[in-house]
Amino acid sequence: MSKWIEQDSAHCLHPFTNFKALNAKGSRVITKAEGIYIFDEDGHKILDGMAGLWCVNLGYSSQPLIDAATEQLKELPYYNLFFQTTHPPAVELSTLLAEVTPEGMNHVFFTGSGSECNDTVLRMVRHYWSSLGKPDKQVVISRNNAYHGSTMAGVSLGGMGFMRAQGGSPLPNIVHIDQPYHFGEGNGQDANEFGLERARQLEQKILEVGEDKVAAFIAEPIQGAGGVIIPPESYWPEIQRICDKYEILLIVDEVICGFGRTGEWFASQTFNIKPDLMCMAKGITSGYLPLGGVMVRDHVAKVLTDADTEFAHGFTYSGHPAACAVAVANIKEMQRLNIVNQVREVTGPYFAKRWSELAAHPLVAQARSKGLVGAIELVKDKSTNERFNKEWDVGTQCREHCFNSGVVLRAVGDTMICSPPLIISKEEIDLLVERAKLALEKTLADVQS
Ligand SMILES: *Cc1c(COP(=O)(O)O)cnc(C)c1O
Repeated sequence: MSKWIEQDSAHCLHPFTNFKALNAKGSRVITKAEGIYIFDEDGHKILDGMAGLWCVNLGYSSQPLIDAATEQLKELPYYNLFFQTTHPPAVELSTLLAEVTPEGMNHVFFTGSGSECNDTVLRMVRHYWSSLGKPDKQVVISRNNAYHGSTMAGVSLGGMGFMRAQGGSPLPNIVHIDQPYHFGEGNGQDANEFGLERARQLEQKILEVGEDKVAAFIAEPIQGAGGVIIPPESYWPEIQRICDKYEILLIVDEVICGFGRTGEWFASQTFNIKPDLMCMAKGITSGYLPLGGVMVRDHVAKVLTDADTEFAHGFTYSGHPAACAVAVANIKEMQRLNIVNQVREVTGPYFAKRWSELAAHPLVAQARSKGLVGAIELVKDKSTNERFNKEWDVGTQCREHCFNSGVVLRAVGDTMICSPPLIISKEEIDLLVERAKLALEKTLADVQS
């Protein structure tokens, strides 16, 4: 056992980890990375099919990002935006974000992470309605199995039962409707009918709670951590219709989908959604430094900027200069490489074609994707879509086989998910799919023995 593994078990408490189980086994030590590959301490080169945690969109070796951080750290390593100060990287990034985000969104509130974005929107929408003289509009509607981060607001807005069961959450005045997960919950119903039904739960919930009590609805365009759940085509137009009809704000959590993942700058454009507030993090810096931001539509920004009370909210690292400088470099590099166009026109369609081949495997009931994010559903019986029973953790087993076959994929229950760096080439997509097939073969061999 290497000293890293020993000291890791002795001192490091990992996120989302059963500490006891991990310590019995020891962590995998990742020591360096290049392009779309990570290397472990034994020198194994592994294709990172998850882009770290959905964030390393430009891969691990982007020199402009490294240079931007280095130069900014020399010039002004830290200053804040509190007490009427600002600095060039924050101003430059705000301006650039107004350019690349959807029309009509021209203001940003910086945070250090996606979770902090969701804490921010929860407080911001309530402050917005109070400023308009409607302090009773407090309730935020979210969805079961949503992921909005790990802070108290993130967990409360989120819809993951196992998270909500721990640590004294959820916060009050947050309610949930069902998710548009057709494969898992559609029971053979037509996908678009199912999508409409799930969207209309929003209307039912608004009527149940009372329009005068509801502040906002929050959702990921495609649920990421929940298992790459791509809603039926009917879903988002109906959600948009309902949000427009009733006086509630639409918050779109673009933390995963933003910055090119679905083949547009934002998935709000892919699904033709018009968000009032948009949460961004992860791909905003390709993960090189931590940063998040809440993008605010003009009519909301006007209420906030016209209000005579202070918005008593902010973080020490809201608009950290080095993180902002990296985000500016990241956006400019995305523009220089024309990467969004490449995902939409070339690598996204090619990934869809190769990834869908996995559905031919005996364990795979469905393979789906959008842009460069995808999932496969592992089942015991393809004719009925019956899942493996709970004692047989086929997802985790498949994930281990993926690692050992030289590709990182993640397991959400029995759903395997994939979200590679956006710079991945067609040849590398071939390699990713070949390795995934190999891992599926190894998993099948386990299942059969
Ligand atoms: C990762 C994620 C978050 C939380 O972001 P952190 O930076 O981990 O706090 C929030 N929303 C979505 C959709 C995410 O995928």
